[in-house]
Amino acid sequence: MPKILIIGQGIAGTLLAWELRNRGVDVTIRDSNLPGASSIAAAGIINPVTGKRYVKSWRFEAFYPVARHTYRALEQLLNIALWEERPIVRLLGKPEEVNDWSVRCMQDDYAGFLSERSHGGAWGPLLKPGFHFGIISQSGRVNLPLLISTFRQYALANGFFEEITHPEEPQESTFPNFDQVVYCEGWRGASNPYFPDVPFRVSKGEALLLRFPGISLEHLPEEMLKKTVLIAPLGEGLFWAGSTYQWFFPDTHPSEDGRDFLLNHLNDMLGVPFDIVDQVAGIRPTMIDRRPVVAQSQINTKIFMLNGLGTKGALLAPYFARQLATQLTEK
Ligand SMILES: Cc1cc2nc3c(=O)[nH]c(=O)nc-3n(C[C@H](O)[C@H](O)[C@H](O)COP(=O)(O)OP(=O)(O)OC[C@H]3O[C@@H](n4cnc5c(N)ncnc54)[C@H](O)[C@@H]3O)c2cc1C
Repeated sequence: MPKILIIGQGIAGTLLAWELRNRGVDVTIRDSNLPGASSIAAAGIINPVTGKRYVKSWRFEAFYPVARHTYRALEQLLNIALWEERPIVRLLGKPEEVNDWSVRCMQDDYAGFLSERSHGGAWGPLLKPGFHFGIISQSGRVNLPLLISTFRQYALANGFFEEITHPEEPQESTFPNFDQVVYCEGWRGASNPYFPDVPFRVSKGEALLLRFPGISLEHLPEEMLKKTVLIAPLGEGLFWAGSTYQWFFPDTHPSEDGRDFLLNHLNDMLGVPFDIVDQVAGIRPTMIDRRPVVAQSQINTKIFMLNGLGTKGALLAPYFARQLATQLTEK
């Protein structure tokens, strides 16, 4: 079995390490906690139907069962709760939106994913008046920050995680002791010299953490809510609300523009006061063609990349980590 070094422990590096260890590989992970990491800012939402035209996600039926199986297995391994299946209440405003939703609900390949409802459920009393409601099923959330921090503790305890103070420079002299090296660097992969042709177009995303003062825990919604912005309950009265898409940005920090954008959209949806308790930001490793990247370097064939998870790391990472692990161990 090969000795494999993984550089980067976001969701891509975490799941690849797990898949490789399941195949008996001697794995080492290195990460230097660089600013702008995407997985720890993300809500980890899996949403099968996205966009203004309510289109089903690419190959959702292939990816979803692998994701569910993987996160449930990791819950067992790490003894934590990671995976929640929760519907999304989709707010519909304009008559065209209501009409387009109804049309989609009647299409055979959307059966089991989309439906209509006459009320907003527990969200109802928190909303501005005038909305219609759709429901998205087969949606859920993975607690990515908890998975990454707990897996890191597990990897440290089992001697296969090395925290490094400086980013691992992509250079051959660093890797004499490994048969293969896999870069799972997220957006920083855009400057990896072993992969000059990968079409990165990274995007910054920001989100707010909210509380609803004066509403008791038992009256707070358990479903997710989506219009332009998505609100997801994180438990114990805390809600994640995001996100922004910024293609040009001066730094990796939360910004005033990001906060204003989110507040405007939250105020369009919500008719009750809320407190902002935090703001987070990360850089998504998005590609021009919006597809994940599983690649072998043309410059050095012992070097690989798992990247390009874009806006859908929670759904895509389990499937593509599994594919790459199979390639690396079975050729
Ligand atoms: C605000 C926001 C909301 C999001 N919401 C969702 C969502 O709800 N659902 C969803 O599926 N996706 C969501 N995403 C997208 C998701 O976060 C990404 O698809 C995914 O996390 C990318 O994971 P990754 O492992 O490729 O990269 P990252 O999570 O960025 O991890 C890369 C890691 O590599 C390390 N690293 C990089 N280079 C080096 C080096 N040279 N040496 C050492 N260490 C290095 C970094 O320190 C980091 O830990 C969201 C993103 C943002 C920003």
